[in-house]
Amino acid sequence: MTRPDLPPIEYAGRAAALRERLTAAGIDGLAITDPTSLRWVTGFSGSNGAVAVLPDRIVLVTDNRYRERAAEELAAAGVEAEVLIGVTQPEQRALLVGAFAGCRQVGAEATSLSHARWEQLAGEVPLVAADGHVADLRRTKDAGEIARMELACRCADAALAEVAPTLGDGLTEADVRDELEHRMRRHGADGPSYATIVASGPEHAARPHHETGRRSIVEGDTVVIDVGALVDGYHSDMTRSFVIGTPTAQQQRLYDLLLDVQLAGVAAVSAGTAASDVDAACRERVADAGLIDWYLHSTGHGVGLLIHEDPFESPVSTMTLRAGDVVTVEPGLYRVGFGGFRIEDLVEVTHDGHRILTAFPKDSPCLPSPPTT
Ligand code: ZN
Ligand code: ZN
Repeated sequence: MTRPDLPPIEYAGRAAALRERLTAAGIDGLAITDPTSLRWVTGFSGSNGAVAVLPDRIVLVTDNRYRERAAEELAAAGVEAEVLIGVTQPEQRALLVGAFAGCRQVGAEATSLSHARWEQLAGEVPLVAADGHVADLRRTKDAGEIARMELACRCADAALAEVAPTLGDGLTEADVRDELEHRMRRHGADGPSYATIVASGPEHAARPHHETGRRSIVEGDTVVIDVGALVDGYHSDMTRSFVIGTPTAQQQRLYDLLLDVQLAGVAAVSAGTAASDVDAACRERVADAGLIDWYLHSTGHGVGLLIHEDPFESPVSTMTLRAGDVVTVEPGLYRVGFGGFRIEDLVEVTHDGHRILTAFPKDSPCLPSPPTT
């Protein structure tokens, strides 16, 4: 399927926003080695590269494999950067070090550099830890980024709409995963956002991050399907839960409870709200129902170029939601012997509240009818 035209991602201005923060921190050069941060600043998506953000220019150091791709991607992003090619790793390091000549303080992300690389670089430039600047700027998605995440959501919605009606047809978990991943690509995705989770029955569905296996899905099972797509490096993330056949009274009661809990979590998402309050909105309702032992993970996370990024919605989060954040709300209930349910939506934080990007229905655990179009 061809892709719709998507608004451009606004790369222009990102380096300037970064420089402003670095200047405030007394840093005149930044070494970016984390591929996600590097992509966010320059548009370059290769697996090997380093960027020097300097007061008056950007230098991208990579290897011969990426000579053309780097030039093409920088041009497409509208980012002016000097591309330097080093054949060997020592050559690449020498080029990066050379770019920082004259800098008084060079920042680097200590959390993304190995200890060995840090030590090497620190021996050659005046290195200081400068973590979190790109990750913090990356939280605020522009229209082009949101459009890609929305398209990724549409691909997962459409794939699940086609596959969910067949869940009772004797398929294995792996069959369902394969169909979903194939169909997301057919609907325009570059691929799955992560290894699709299909967790079924009294044991597998009770594991929040079950590894999809060969179990056949049978009548009476709860089935948790966590599926997302990738578009231009941007992720989507959605979970829906089903019962094969007519739900028992307990299955229906717990699903209805979880849906209320999830809706309360989504309702709490707005700019200025503490991320921990979204978690609390869900957790407290589960505790009130006497089921806190069934609540095994935190309530959500940010999504963007990474499937898990800031801000995390957990009891210990210190972050406050901002317009432009894209977060999941994904409470779940799990118990070995029963199975489990999780309902997860991807939600954009807007200036006046929020907008849900995932569209697959969630009002019932019963299998849907096949799509008519
Ligand atoms: Zn998920
Ligand atoms: Zn998630």
